[in-house]
Order: sequence, then C-alpha cells, then structure tokens
Amino acid sequence: MKLYEYARKAGKILKEKKKEQAGRYLFPVRRMEQFAPVKGQRVVAMTFDDGPMALPPNPVNGKYGHNESLTALLIEIMAAYGARGTFDIIGSTQENYPDHAGSLNTSKWGGTIHDHYPQFGKDEFAGAANQPALIDKLIAGGHELSNHSFRHVLFGPNKVVYGSRHHFKTLGEVAGDLRQLHELIESTHHYVMTFSRPPHYIDKIPDGYSSYDAYALLGYDYLAAGFDGGGWLPSTGDYQADIRKMTEPLEKVLKANPDAMNGQIIFQKDGYNMSLMTPIGHALEEHLKLLGDSGYRVVSAGELKRLSPFEDIDTGADYIEKLRHLDQKGYVIGYQNNTFKPDKPLTRGEMLTMTLTKKDYRDFLEKEVLGKGFHSQYKKCPYYPAYKKYGLLGQLDQNAGAVTADEVRKFLYESLHTEISLGSGKEVLRRDYISILPF
Ligand SMILES: [Zn+2]
Repeated sequence: MKLYEYARKAGKILKEKKKEQAGRYLFPVRRMEQFAPVKGQRVVAMTFDDGPMALPPNPVNGKYGHNESLTALLIEIMAAYGARGTFDIIGSTQENYPDHAGSLNTSKWGGTIHDHYPQFGKDEFAGAANQPALIDKLIAGGHELSNHSFRHVLFGPNKVVYGSRHHFKTLGEVAGDLRQLHELIESTHHYVMTFSRPPHYIDKIPDGYSSYDAYALLGYDYLAAGFDGGGWLPSTGDYQADIRKMTEPLEKVLKANPDAMNGQIIFQKDGYNMSLMTPIGHALEEHLKLLGDSGYRVVSAGELKRLSPFEDIDTGADYIEKLRHLDQKGYVIGYQNNTFKPDKPLTRGEMLTMTLTKKDYRDFLEKEVLGKGFHSQYKKCPYYPAYKKYGLLGQLDQNAGAVTADEVRKFLYESLHTEISLGSGKEVLRRDYISILPF
C-alpha cells in the first residue's frame, strides 16, 4: 500500500472524530460530504477537481468529438447523458515556480514544492485564468463552478504526504488567493461561486484559523465528497484495468443497494492522474450508465443542496420548505458538519445566531478578524458575532444553556419586534424555532 493510501486510511479514522466536533456549533460554512436521500427520487451530485484542462485526454475517447481537451470531452459526455456537475476549478499554477518536476506515480507527480496542473511546465493549459473559453463552455452546459483556490497552494502544512510542499501561513493569504479566483470568475464570466474545496483537504492554517474561516469570508459552503471516483490514482499499467478500478466500486455499491447513492457527492478528476493518464475519459460514461440504469439524476452539488439541504433531515419532513428557504437566504441555521439536529433543545447561542446570515459573518470577519491577528474569543465560541450584534457580549459564556419559551418570546419581541405564540414549556426544540422565525 502506498503512503498516500495509508494517509487516506488514517485520515478516515480522524474524520469521524473531526465530524463529531464539527457538530457542536452552528456556523455559516457547512461541510457537505453527503445529503439526506431525496424522497421519491434518486439524485446524486458529481464533482470534478483541478480543471479546466485544455490538453487532450490520454488516451482519447474515439466515440466522442471533443478530444482536443479533457474538460471539453467531459462536458460532451455529461451532455450525452443529460447530466450536470460541479467543476471545482483552479485559477492557474503558472506562478508556482521555481520548482522541480516530481516522480511520476507518486503524490509529487505534479511538482516538488507545488502542484502544477495539468502538468509540470505546461501550467497555461489548465485553470480559469488561461482557459476562459472552457469556463464559458462549462457555464453554457449548465454546470456549476466551485472555487478550488487560484494557485492550488496548501492552506497549511501536511507532513505525512506533502512534507516538502510550500503552504500558506495566514488567513489573509488563503482568503486573498480564493478571492483572486472568485473575482476573476465574477468579472469575466458574471458568475458567482458559492462552494469551495481546499487543495488536498488541508483545513488548518498556521495562524490558528482554518478553511472554514476563509470560506465564511467568501460566503461559501465547504464542498467535500463521500464517494471517490478514483480517477486520481496512479495507473496500473493496463488501461482497461484502470477503468474497471474506477467503475467496480460504484457497480458494487449500487448492486448491494440501488438507493445507496441517493444524496451522495461523487469526486472525479478533471485532469491527469499520477501517471499522466485520464481514465475518467472512459470511466465517466460507465459511471453515468450505471447511475442511469438505477434511475439516478446526476446534478450539481448546488442543485442537490436545494433539494436536500442537510445530512440528517428527511426531505419529507413537514418543516423542510422553511429549512430550504432559510438556507437559500443564507441564514446560519445548521451545524458545521451539515446536520440540523431538529429534536435538540435550542440553546441561547443558537437562538441568537440563527437570526444572522452569511453576510453578517462576512462583515464581522472583514472588520474584526482579517489582518487583525488571532481573535481568541471568536475562535473559542463562534457565536461571538451574534452576541456582539445584539450587545450581549457579557452573556457569551452562557451560550450553551437551553432557552425557555419565555426567553425566545422575549428575544424575538425585543430584537426582531415579532410577537409569537409559543407554549410556556421549559424547552424549545430547534425545529419549532425554525417555524416561528420571521424570515
Ligand atoms: Zn485539487
């Protein structure tokens, strides 16, 4: 087993722990790894990282016309199956020099201290900065764009696999890099991105902040994925075997349970694998056939989120419309791990925070965090912005206590000038609070 595969396994064990921790606080940025299954339908999201790429697929797929560019081929195949996806694009890696080429079939195949897409020395053939026509083609094809960072520089160190890699040091550097791509896409293509996925999923920034803080500054949600399409792995030396390696896991999962992919997010590679091959150029069609045979609609992550915003909320729940509405408006109603926990008693910190939007957090971070050093009160309790907004900072340490119906009534009346009818119970459940919020 290769080092990066060990790292993935170790990562999986840590992941559950991290997920549990991420479920403690509501936050404007939620990490989307999967969604609750969509009732009465089968819907799955498909995401593609590291493109767009203007070099030809290796090998070409003679069944299709667009073999001048891997991304153009993927767009053509998706269109043939009526599928839409989320393309998690980069700006350009052309500034990531001086650097040395790494060895093929290793995690440093793209470069020693940086990644280079689509290939070392050929950076101008990938990324939005140099390939605007491919970005236009993606938008025209109905695909969603997500921010995979401008230069694909790690947000922080990762000693296990990427020890020799350069990485950012501050929240300001990370946010600046994300903003560079955000503004390029908005000004050139009139498109506003709402998702981001960190390069190699490294979250911790050395100055004490994380990808979540950077995404809150940009108004994004965190696009993860629960199902790996496998197109990034090194080739076995047998191209047909490489394709089978990508298709067999999906075939197996669907055979065991045709509903298993409902609400899932699939990860694909819009670029070369570690051996400068592109098995995705053939495996994508096989994936789409398998999903189509089981009655799946393949959509962007944004469309799936509109249907099923949370991981733990049945889309048949009677309060789902209100949840969808508040989520689309940017209200901070869910936990960082994309759960909602409807039956949990509402806490004081949650009562205040659920009336704030992504924009409130963005304004707060721009004013009080960005470029200002470590904000220990905010990092200790992410409900700080809400307490500050309502002039209640003296009560921040009581944020974890459950509220009574009287407290909710008083808060909504005094702060939002709304009168509500609510029993006089000891606790208010989170789902009951949703239905009385006046937004
Ligand atoms: Zn990447």
